[in-house]
Amino acid sequence: MDPRKAPAILLLGSGGLPVARRIQALYPQARVLGLAGRVEGADATYAEFGETLRGLYRDDRPIIALCAAGILIRSLAAQLAGKGAEPPVLAVAEDGSAVVPLLGGLGGVNRMAREIAAQLEVAPAITTSGELRFGTCLLEPPAGYALADIEQGKRFVSDLLGGESVRVEGEAPWLEAANLPLADQARRVIHVTAEQRVDARDELLIHPRVVAARIDGDADAAGVRQALATAGLASGALACLLAAPARMTDAALASCADELGVPLRFVVDETALPPLHQHLSGIRLYRAAQPLEVERIGRRRGRLTVVGLGPGAAEFMVPATRRALDEAEDLLGYETYIRMAGPFRPEQVLHCTDNREELQRARHAFELAASGRRVVVVSSGDPGVFAMAAAVLEALDDNRDPRWLQVELQVFPGVSAALATAAKAGAPLGHDFCLISLSDNLKPWEVIEQRLDHAGAADLAMAFYNPISRARPWQLARALEIVARHRRPETVVVLGRDIGRPAEALTLTSLGELRPEQVDMRTLVIIGSSLTRRIPRPDGQDWVYTPRWYR
Ligand code: SAH
Repeated sequence: MDPRKAPAILLLGSGGLPVARRIQALYPQARVLGLAGRVEGADATYAEFGETLRGLYRDDRPIIALCAAGILIRSLAAQLAGKGAEPPVLAVAEDGSAVVPLLGGLGGVNRMAREIAAQLEVAPAITTSGELRFGTCLLEPPAGYALADIEQGKRFVSDLLGGESVRVEGEAPWLEAANLPLADQARRVIHVTAEQRVDARDELLIHPRVVAARIDGDADAAGVRQALATAGLASGALACLLAAPARMTDAALASCADELGVPLRFVVDETALPPLHQHLSGIRLYRAAQPLEVERIGRRRGRLTVVGLGPGAAEFMVPATRRALDEAEDLLGYETYIRMAGPFRPEQVLHCTDNREELQRARHAFELAASGRRVVVVSSGDPGVFAMAAAVLEALDDNRDPRWLQVELQVFPGVSAALATAAKAGAPLGHDFCLISLSDNLKPWEVIEQRLDHAGAADLAMAFYNPISRARPWQLARALEIVARHRRPETVVVLGRDIGRPAEALTLTSLGELRPEQVDMRTLVIIGSSLTRRIPRPDGQDWVYTPRWYR
């Protein structure tokens, strides 16, 4: 299964956990999500069922919910009117006694229902007439084959349901076990062919992906389609694009492959290719007898993604990061953060390292990515805030190895500790502010003192990262002294400890009262500006905000 489509298994109560784990055994990349406060022992928690469900649905994720079908229908109702993603959605009884495919007929929901039902040893509640009658979804050919036209396919299936018989031309091994109304003289034909054919109402056209197109000149999708057409081949028969390794960073080539919806592979050695079919200007078409195993042809461009997990809670992680984590083959980072980002599939390689070996970790990440792997480097919060993104770029800057330069490098933002803490407290960073790391591991302490002095004079609100540690015991007290030159003792101070994690604690105090003992390395310290204020909120604690004005 496409790892981007890892199912989410949703639980409303702990009772369903054993069944959820049995389903997860079928889809090891799936995550079990439990309602916070109600479910113990899930892989992650969520706060609100409807919102979470709609988010997953929008994100095109298969959903397996252990709850009443009605709850799912009601929660998704508003979403269904719009066009857009329609991932598989299944309701499974908490005790595993019923498996009900609800939505996502073309996304393979019935196949999932059959798999899950077999695992739970019950009968799936399949209601799709075509599937019931023929024992297979004709519109969902296996990997290596592409359906030419889904709308035409739907008409074709309804003709068969209406009593038409059918014959098969070409090789369709997966249909052998199906229960089709076959007849040698049938007007309706399932054609399995790489050749281009004119769409006809009485045909179901399926293309085996047997063609690889090597691009030597300029890349554009229209040109590739044209070349296929000239060779008499259907665009659906295209399995991949090929190019020389020197073109790994060619953006036009990558977007051409995207537009055609096929992978791009880089080949040095022509011997592994299928036979040459036709050579047109700048494009060589290779054609195999069977669907191509693209993963075996040449290699792909490696990818290095630097992500930030946010402060901790899964809801505060950006979806692109979740996807990158799911797609990763290698993950590098401080062990605590890697564990926070899991669970992972057994084949995903975790390279857990000590927090201080950042440059070495970055180099290792480049080496892996340069060999064609999908690599993710994990930070907490935002990767660009006192974290791995700068180390990764520094490694690249130091060592402009041509192989490293060919890696597809991306940095995804995350919710940094200062922003997560500020949001908990209200809006202490609601006006101009600065972020300062009090760690003098990589910068001289004098620089830090100078910055604190200037930030104090500029009346900026400040967020302190790395405020204190066993190796740096005195620095925080000294920093507070410097700030106190510019701020009154009543200046509002916010301490956020383990924000977004189970042990989360938010403390409001003042510059005069703050003691370094209240702070540790898991704390983010916000010092207000001269205007930062507290206002009461109903639960007894105060809101903190810095007004947008000076008056
Ligand atoms: N890249 C991270 C910061 C790494 S520096 C980010 O953007 O958040 C590590 C420091 O960040 C810690 O010493 C602490 O001051 C702060 N920090 C990180 N996560 C935190 C959390 N969940 N709660 C409070 N502070 C946190």
